[in-house]
Amino acid sequence: MAIQNVFVAGAGQMGTGIAQVALQAGMKVTLFDIAEGQLDRARERVAAGLTKADRRGKLNGVTLAEAQAALTLTTDLSARDMDLVIEAAPESEPLKRDLLARLSEVVGEGGVLATNTSSLSITRLSQAVRRPEAFVGMHFMNPVPLMALVEVIPGLATDESTRDRAADFVRALGKTPVVCRDLPGFVVNRLLIPMLNEACFALLEGACSPQQIDDAMKLGAGLPMGPLALADMIGLDTCLAIMEVMQRGYGDDKYRPCPLLRQYVDAGWLGKKSGRGFFTYG
Ligand code: NAD
Repeated sequence: MAIQNVFVAGAGQMGTGIAQVALQAGMKVTLFDIAEGQLDRARERVAAGLTKADRRGKLNGVTLAEAQAALTLTTDLSARDMDLVIEAAPESEPLKRDLLARLSEVVGEGGVLATNTSSLSITRLSQAVRRPEAFVGMHFMNPVPLMALVEVIPGLATDESTRDRAADFVRALGKTPVVCRDLPGFVVNRLLIPMLNEACFALLEGACSPQQIDDAMKLGAGLPMGPLALADMIGLDTCLAIMEVMQRGYGDDKYRPCPLLRQYVDAGWLGKKSGRGFFTYG
């Protein structure tokens, strides 16, 4: 059965992007957050994103007005019988476990419960959910409307049919699923985040300025975006959490977070979302 009703928990940058692309594909979306302010921002971002998608001919079998009308924003978790529930709350295991337990009641009997975690073990998180066989990792890339890949990560208890439904949903969004094993950081972040962490070490050791580090990697390694600007975009708290999960998960200190990254997070300099990280934002 094709997925029609999608519930997204967490209206930050990822949840908002996931909501937008599901609306573009003609699905009904409920976007949940505990913070009203986040929902207000999400409403504006989704509206702007859908308008842009419409101009570029990226609405699939749905008009702009229909896509806009298919979005519900809520601070209420009483929805039931959803075909697909995607958790996109902060990268904290206790927080996600608690939320996933509650989201187990929101997903329908034949539905799929997914987490957009960047690095946490799907198998461990599955202990918090009511039906581990219907639980899967679905790791979208940032910014969601632009990035073509979604990692699909079955845990030990995930059914093949759950994995396949998740991959079908990704294709219905016009994106490409890659099924990966449940290893810390999966594939993309296992390779990407250590590079961003190394850029923090280069800065800490005075190699050159943040702008020079980013220019060097754009001009010298052909990256579309410098590593420090990318870390700011991902969120420095999220980058730190991923490094910590990989350091613990692999038991290998090559994944140790840079002290400067930790200090920025301690200062509340989380990157673009807080207005200040390695660069400042208006
Ligand atoms: P964010 O900080 O932008 O947004 C998190 C949202 O969750 C906020 O709106 C917050 O109010 C809300 N929230 C907090 N507690 C909640 C709760 N109990 N229930 C519901 N909502 C709650 O974070 P983000 O960058 O969107 O990341 C969300 C998830 O996606 C994380 O697991 C992160 O690792 C993952 N992810 C992030 C990126 C990225 O580049 N930022 C990429 C892929 C995956």
